[in-house]
Amino acid sequence: MINEEALAQLYNEYACRFAGNEFVFGCGCTKPKLLLIGEAPGREEVKLSRPFSGAAGKNLDDLLELANIKREEIYITNAVKYRLSKMNPKTGRLSNRPAAREEIMSSRPYLLREIDMIRPRCIATLGNVPLRAVTGNFSLNIGECHGIPVREVIQGQEYLIFPLYHPASIIYNRDLIQTCRTDMLKLRGLIQS
Ligand code: URA
Repeated sequence: MINEEALAQLYNEYACRFAGNEFVFGCGCTKPKLLLIGEAPGREEVKLSRPFSGAAGKNLDDLLELANIKREEIYITNAVKYRLSKMNPKTGRLSNRPAAREEIMSSRPYLLREIDMIRPRCIATLGNVPLRAVTGNFSLNIGECHGIPVREVIQGQEYLIFPLYHPASIIYNRDLIQTCRTDMLKLRGLIQS
């Protein structure tokens, strides 16, 4: 069972450490079987203060529905808990950008403590960033690791890590949709067993 007060304190510490940013913290079930970890929130997520509320979230919801996994029974967070943006010189507007290695590494100690507080049975990472953040191994590549469960010790506790493609990857490459579906059904089998 998550100690919500301790987790809120961790998020508060994080907000102080990275002050000046737009934050979106994790949310979900207080006794989750599954923890999903994304990269970082975008514009939509900041607007609604909820991870995966935009286009990637729609794809994620479709995949979860296929596997009959409800958001209310899992916990969802991000490796970096603030919006990463850059100015688009053409539009003059801020657009989302990928996380740099230093940003992943500076958020990592908080992510590991967060995992230790949530203690899920299984952790599914969405894309390269959370996979590298959780393992600390930047040579891992989602194209080679997706759908293959691995055991990882985090803060002295062993977890089953299940790497998935990021749901936004389907937006850029429609061919990945079947792979994402197959992996999600495999994840369903893992958390049921
Ligand atoms: N992409 C992510 O990785 N996380 C979110 O919360 C939204 C989009």
